[in-house]
Amino acid sequence: MGIEVRNLTHIYAEGLPDESVALENVSFTIEDNEFIGIIGHTGSGKSTLLQHLDGLIKPNKSGSIVIGGTDITESKADMLSVRRKIGLVFQYPEYQLFEESVAADVAFGPKNLGLPEEEVVERVREALNLVGMDPDVYGSVSPFELSGGQKRRIAIAGVVAMRPEVLILDEPIAGLDPKAHKDILGMIKRIHEEQHNITILVSHNMSDVAKLCTKVLVMDHGRLAMEGTPRQVFGRAEELEAMGLSTPPITKFIKGLKEAGLAIDGNPLLIDDGAEEILKVFGKR
Ligand code: ADP
Ligand code: MG
Repeated sequence: MGIEVRNLTHIYAEGLPDESVALENVSFTIEDNEFIGIIGHTGSGKSTLLQHLDGLIKPNKSGSIVIGGTDITESKADMLSVRRKIGLVFQYPEYQLFEESVAADVAFGPKNLGLPEEEVVERVREALNLVGMDPDVYGSVSPFELSGGQKRRIAIAGVVAMRPEVLILDEPIAGLDPKAHKDILGMIKRIHEEQHNITILVSHNMSDVAKLCTKVLVMDHGRLAMEGTPRQVFGRAEELEAMGLSTPPITKFIKGLKEAGLAIDGNPLLIDDGAEEILKVFGKR
C-alpha cells in the first residue's frame, strides 16, 4: 500500500497576524514496506505533515494524499477505512492513557474499530507481546503505576493493536532514558519487520535515523528540502548544518579526523563502521 503526497500546502491562521505556512508545496511518495525517517528543526512542519497523513487535518490550501488508492483529502473519503489502515502515535503519548488497566487501554482502539470481543482480546495480547510487556503480568495493572518508558510502550501498543498498515510515530524517543530509548527503538524495528508495515518515524536522533530508515525526508520551514537514502542525505553535511541539523555524531567525528589529515576513505554513518575505519588507519584491520 503506497502513499503519494502531492503539492501539499497548509497555512494556519491565514490572514491573521500569527499566520504560519506550516507546509509549502510538499510532494513525495512512499513505497510498500519502507521505513521513512523525517527530520527537521522544531517548527519545520513535521507534526502538521503527520496529522495530514492520518487524516486529522485536511489540507486547507492545496494538495492531495493518496493512500492505497484512496484520496483521503476528498470530503467523501471513507475516513473509517483510512483510520483502520493508519496508526499515529503522538508525541508524549503516555499522557493520553486513561483506562483503569493496561489491557483496557490497549483495547480501546480495536474496540472502536468495531471488532468482535475475542478478536479484541487476541489483538491486545499480540500488541502487548510486540511491545515487550507480558500481557499476563501487566494486563490488569493500572497504567499509572508504570514507569515513563513502560507507559509509552503501552501507548504504542494501543496503536499497534489496530494493526495499521502505516505506523506513524512522532518523536517516540523524546525524553526517554538510554535504556528505554534502546528498547523502544528495537521494538519499533521488530514491529516493522513482523507486520511488514510502512513505518514513518520523526526523530531528532540522526544515528537512529541512519540505522533504521530506508529513506529520509528533510523538512525546512514547511518545505521538503531533501529526500534520499540516509547515505545520500547525510552526505550533505553543510546543507544540513545550514538548516540547524546535523549528521550522526560518528559521521561528524570521522569528518573531523579526515580534515586533521588522517587517511580515512569511508563516510561511516554507524558507530561500528566508524570504529572499523579508525582501526584500518592503525593497521589493525
Ligand atoms: P514540527 O513538528 O516540525 O515542530 P509543526 O508542524 O508543529 O512543526 O509546526 C509547523 C508550524 O506551524 C510552526 O510554525 C508552528 O508554530 C505552526 N503551528 C503548528 N500547529 C499549529 C496550530 N494548531 N495553530 C497554529 N499554528 C500552528
Ligand atoms: Mg512536532
